[in-house]
Amino acid sequence: MKTWRDILNSSIHSSAALNAHFKSEHTSIDRVIATYPMRINEYYLNLIQREGDALWKQAVPDAAELEDPVCVEDPLDEENLSPVPNLVHKYPDRVLFLISSQCAMYCRFCTRKRKVGTDRMAITPQTIEAGLEYIRRHPQVREVLLSGGDPLLLSDTGLDSILSRLRAIPSVQVIRIGTRVPCTLPMRVTPALAALLKKYHPLYINTHFNHPAEITPESSAACALLADAGIPLGCQTVLLKGVNDHPEIMRELLLKLLQIRVKPYYLFQTDLTAGTNHFRTPTATGIAIMRSLIGHISGLAIPTYALDGPGGKGKIPLTPDYILDRGSDLIFENYRGERCTYPESGDGT
Ligand SMILES: *Cc1c(COP(=O)(O)O)cnc(C)c1O
Ligand code: SF4
Repeated sequence: MKTWRDILNSSIHSSAALNAHFKSEHTSIDRVIATYPMRINEYYLNLIQREGDALWKQAVPDAAELEDPVCVEDPLDEENLSPVPNLVHKYPDRVLFLISSQCAMYCRFCTRKRKVGTDRMAITPQTIEAGLEYIRRHPQVREVLLSGGDPLLLSDTGLDSILSRLRAIPSVQVIRIGTRVPCTLPMRVTPALAALLKKYHPLYINTHFNHPAEITPESSAACALLADAGIPLGCQTVLLKGVNDHPEIMRELLLKLLQIRVKPYYLFQTDLTAGTNHFRTPTATGIAIMRSLIGHISGLAIPTYALDGPGGKGKIPLTPDYILDRGSDLIFENYRGERCTYPESGDGT
């Protein structure tokens, strides 16, 4: 049987391999690949039904990546918010700790595409130890988010070594792993990996699905293994033009996530990342999608639609506005557009 490493090793990286698979002519993408690498593993490649579909758009380079007129390399100012390399300390009580430069696929819309999968992202035993040392010296850090790249592309041994050192820091209450592996390379989630992660509770995983076609028997099995190990699963979806910027598609995705025991956590407005401008939608599109969902489907399926403030200002929720008037009565409309009244208590005014 093929291991996850075999599947990863047979990934395609060039237009020649892509053209051979799809019997197509896409040579111009090699120019893009020279700046922003391509990696499409065999599993995800086989989910792509046809050129230009929602999965193709996420995986296959587009000439537009090199012609982005608006966006910037590091829109969230992560490099300036890093007290040591690969550790971003933006919020008071939690840090983002990048422990892998590799992913199972290089998403074309990646917010960290300036460095993920390239030699501009140097992760070494020294940067890992420096990150751990920073966390040891900052006991206000209650939660550590492991990200990258994808932490689950590390070997079991490598991951175990980082997690055990992190768990040995008494001030670290919660460990959170951000990984797209359950979606892009679900066979990486083995019983051995689930057993390893289970040793480090409370440990949360936020995964990343963007389209209902990504929810397959394989990805469902991966999420089941993790959920059965007691790991609460969340999902960080990115709102992407031509992929999921439609109420019907988003609804189907969110309801399918609930069925595989993944709780939608964030729906992200696309960051201003250089090379991703062609994926951006107006925020009004996202707000309209949220309005089409809230109240109409289970509240469990509703993520927070969030915008990550340019310049590292942090995330803010973007919520449909139901309030019509704030007087001595609060006047609002409900999810069906009916006008409602709630009399304020009068205290504190
Ligand atoms: C998004 C993010 C977090 C986590 O934010 P939550 O709202 O807790 O999910 C932490 N640090 C950085 C730098 C982030 O970008
Ligand atoms: S898996 Fe995440 S970090 Fe990796 S390329 Fe995709 S969006 Fe970027």
